[in-house]
Amino acid sequence: MASTALVEQTFPVQGMHCGSCAAIIERTFAKAKGVARASANYGTESVRVTFDPGTTSPEDLAKTLKPLGYALVVPHIAAAVTNDLATRLRTGRAEEIAALKRRAQAAMPLAVVAILIMGWDMLASVQALPAPPPVWRDVFRHLLALMATYTLFVTGAAYLAAVVSFVRHGKANMDTLIGIGTGAAFVYSVALTAFEDALRSYVDVSHTYYDVTIVVIAFVTLGKFLEARAKLKTGDAIETLLTLQAKTALVVREGAERDVAISDVVEGDRLIIKPGAKIPVDGVIREGRSFVDESLVTGEAAPVAKQPGDAVTSGTLNGAGSFTFEATRVGERTFLASVVRMVEAAQASKAPIQALADRISAVFVPAVLILAVLALSGWLVFGIPALGFPRALGHAVTAFIGILVIACPCALGLATPTAIMVAIGKGARAGILVRNAAALERLHRADTLVLDKTGTLTRGKPELVGVATFAGVSEDEALSILAGLESRSEHPLAYAILNAAATRGVVAREVRAFSNLEGFGVTGTVEGRDHAAGNSRLMAEFAVQLPVGEGDPGHTPIFLARGDQLVALFWVADQVKPEAAAALIALRAEGVTPIMLTGDRRATADAIARQVGITEVRADLLPADKLEAIRALQADGHAVAMAGDGVNDAPALAQADVGIAMATGTDIAIETAGLTLLRGDLARLVKAFRLSRLTMRGIKQNLFWAFAFNLAGIPLAGGLFYPLLGWQLSPAFAGVAMAFSSVMVISNSLRLRMVTL
Ligand code: ADP
Ligand code: MG
Repeated sequence: MASTALVEQTFPVQGMHCGSCAAIIERTFAKAKGVARASANYGTESVRVTFDPGTTSPEDLAKTLKPLGYALVVPHIAAAVTNDLATRLRTGRAEEIAALKRRAQAAMPLAVVAILIMGWDMLASVQALPAPPPVWRDVFRHLLALMATYTLFVTGAAYLAAVVSFVRHGKANMDTLIGIGTGAAFVYSVALTAFEDALRSYVDVSHTYYDVTIVVIAFVTLGKFLEARAKLKTGDAIETLLTLQAKTALVVREGAERDVAISDVVEGDRLIIKPGAKIPVDGVIREGRSFVDESLVTGEAAPVAKQPGDAVTSGTLNGAGSFTFEATRVGERTFLASVVRMVEAAQASKAPIQALADRISAVFVPAVLILAVLALSGWLVFGIPALGFPRALGHAVTAFIGILVIACPCALGLATPTAIMVAIGKGARAGILVRNAAALERLHRADTLVLDKTGTLTRGKPELVGVATFAGVSEDEALSILAGLESRSEHPLAYAILNAAATRGVVAREVRAFSNLEGFGVTGTVEGRDHAAGNSRLMAEFAVQLPVGEGDPGHTPIFLARGDQLVALFWVADQVKPEAAAALIALRAEGVTPIMLTGDRRATADAIARQVGITEVRADLLPADKLEAIRALQADGHAVAMAGDGVNDAPALAQADVGIAMATGTDIAIETAGLTLLRGDLARLVKAFRLSRLTMRGIKQNLFWAFAFNLAGIPLAGGLFYPLLGWQLSPAFAGVAMAFSSVMVISNSLRLRMVTL
């Protein structure tokens, strides 16, 4: 397997009806040839497989799953049409949901009738109502038998199929439990009816379990319908994103305007955007002007003025103007496509907290089958001497069926993925792109937030505020040399210099042998002479004598040296982001300590820290020092989140427990970041923390309820409390309760959508 590169791909799976299906799929793939890893997710009904394309193929993978009743959806078309695929999948799921709805609608009235009959019986047994006349009893019995036959074989066909698959392949899922439970109730009841006379002296032949079959199947089906519908809603962020995708584009080709499919647009195409149209791909405006609603990119609702030369982004909405633009990124490379991809992948990822639930789900089904058999035998062994055979058998059957029905770990399988889906969708809408569930989970534990200064606490748009020259060099000459050097740098300080040169009409000189010294500055040859521009540390390297005096503490110096001669000193100032101080107060309220790390000099660092209210500052750091500082914090037992610009802070972002990239443009593909904040403002950073905490709280509530329900339900249904208190849960109620535990868990996840961050 080492010879070829492994491929990682996510496939939707049809037929995943329960949490234990995920475990079955994972175990099947674990044994399959050519598969390195597989992670199945019940929340998104998909599986992420890492496989060796030389040994196996998606088609082979699909074949492996088929006998178990799962259909792996293999996309045959190139990635460019993933959007179409997503839409088709949704349609497929909508059909599945409609079918579930029809089945529930047909079965529920039968369940109501069964409950009424059951209720009458119960009330009569405590003398609250007169017992039904014997003729009615006979009618009821036959009616119940008929209704049970319908619900078991028509409504519950999927559960019976799961029993058949269990017998054939030995793989049991939760449908199997329901199938065995309701099937056993049915067979037992039919046997009582058929051999009534022969059995009369041994058992209570009037006590059939038809009602259990009807009520359990009807409610479980209703529960599954509600669950499937709600699950679709947890993923509707993707749907919202997809509605932003234009289907066609108006392209100028051979001088004529043509309406072409979006997949036919190529880089360099001229596209015409009419008033109110969606912008189909990324590009640069060539003609015309307008206002564009860029809320997808920035989260800001106010439209942005656009003119020739400005960039436009796919998924944004044109206002009243009209313009022509040149496509620069198309297909999979567009901003919108990358956001969709990222959100989809994140929603399908697993949070570490889910591992426990997964392990339990995996052993749950066989464990429950064993427990049910134990309860059955327990009642027979200990019940017969105490209660006599007929009553003991009644309890034994009730316990067997009840345990099978109530123990379904559906809610357990839903607890984590549904909350994750809602949270990641909610984040995407607020401009917080989460790479995966694990990042969100780690963020909630973070107690320390390391912030980069430039571009994170400050605007990252520094301006040139002062120049001093030495050695007879003129200001313009110094600026043109520095601009030459900085034109090759990506550092925010470089922009300040280039902007200043442009406004003053100073042309940048040509630079040879350029090199960028991270954390120091830049060097290069201009007109045959060696130059260096950067901080005092860089000047020390070249043994350049510096003037005394600190200047304004809020300003950053850039020294320009020729050989070992200082020729100019430029002062650059960056403004603190307006929301910074308030955001840091809010962060502290969340229990997070902010620490500022910067490569800038101590005086500037302290001045900025004072303005935003940070007390812990580390200045004069090299990129490697930043990494070391984070390691030291981690060694002290802190969980560290780091917010930075994602470009030159990538190593530190990767070292932190969770890296938060403050994106400045449409570049969101920052691999080392667990989270990307679109147009990173600090208020959004606080929201990211709140989102993570809200989500984890929701997941813990869900897990608690799911566990509590199963833990309490099993002994209750098994009749463990009967000898002491006389309680045993009726299997019919077990079915109702089971269905609602899932619905409750999903509702709790959906509730997260309503909470304001
Ligand atoms: P930070 O992102 O915290 O400011 P950097 O490592 O990016 O840290 O930069 C540290 C320092 O190095 C800057 O404050 C500046 O003094 C100097 N420096 C780095 N790159 C340049 C450059 N292109 N031009 C001038 N100075 C630079
Ligand atoms: Mg930096």
